[in-house]
Amino acid sequence: MRLNMENKVYIFGHKNPDTDSICASLVSERLDRKNGWDCTEAKRLGRINKETQYILDYLKLEAPDLIEKVEEGQEVCLVDHNEFNQSVEGIEKAKILSVVDHHRISNFETSEPLYYTAKPYGCTCTILFEEYKRLGHEIDREEAILMASAIISDTLLLKSPTTTDHDKKALEELEKIAGVDINEYGLEILKAGTDLADFSAEELINLDAKSLDKNGTKFVIAQVNTVSIEDVLKRQKDLEDAIYKEIEKKDLGLFVLAITDILNSNSEIIALGNRVDAVEKAFDVVLNDNRAFLEGVVSRKKQLLPNVDKAI
Ligand code: MN
Ligand code: MN
Repeated sequence: MRLNMENKVYIFGHKNPDTDSICASLVSERLDRKNGWDCTEAKRLGRINKETQYILDYLKLEAPDLIEKVEEGQEVCLVDHNEFNQSVEGIEKAKILSVVDHHRISNFETSEPLYYTAKPYGCTCTILFEEYKRLGHEIDREEAILMASAIISDTLLLKSPTTTDHDKKALEELEKIAGVDINEYGLEILKAGTDLADFSAEELINLDAKSLDKNGTKFVIAQVNTVSIEDVLKRQKDLEDAIYKEIEKKDLGLFVLAITDILNSNSEIIALGNRVDAVEKAFDVVLNDNRAFLEGVVSRKKQLLPNVDKAI
């Protein structure tokens, strides 16, 4: 299927990479090696977040190299995303060989056939875990920790409503290979990701932001994880200033920042823009001081995004 065997194939997750995007890239590279394919190389499309850095440090691994765009005809494999607006600059003219993903399929088109693995699981690494099984490859300790970390991160230690039995089963098995206490290790990595102190308000609202477009209304749903919603709200005024700038710059109808309490599985949202009515309708709440508390809401993909999308 490949024409240029001497060229490298890049594997990467989405922009604003999270732990699943980075770990799935690194694990895919290892899985390809085990399949006798040594031309693939993990890459990343943005800065490593603190949670992921904690995992890389734990394993004494280097982060994948950063790429900002790809040339026409570059062969690529996508993990943890498919939408072009979440991918690398130049993706429209790249040659996409494969996608392994657990998101909706949208804004995606290729001119040639490809491998496409889509499963509605809680994490890309759960799909990869099942690939190891299917192909009969051993999983070593490093691979187990990479995959377990991604599952912990995406499912908030199996507490997110996106969690499936596949994720639970994978994590259970990976725990044995990894030789770590998943609850203890999991809380450590999630907490590492909530250290927001040295991010500016502008960085915070862009840390994990997804841009969407519905019926001509552009909107953004951003999320930060914390162990203290109160702590983050001390910066509400600064965050709002940064959000207003973003609304102006990108001509947005709505910007929602979800501040998610990962220990108690709730979120407080800050919503601004001329379409905040969509948020009030979506969650049957009235914003007070631009804020609302959403009991039991932790997942952007399953809860925030579809409800807001529908209301718009
Ligand atoms: Mn992701
Ligand atoms: Mn993911």
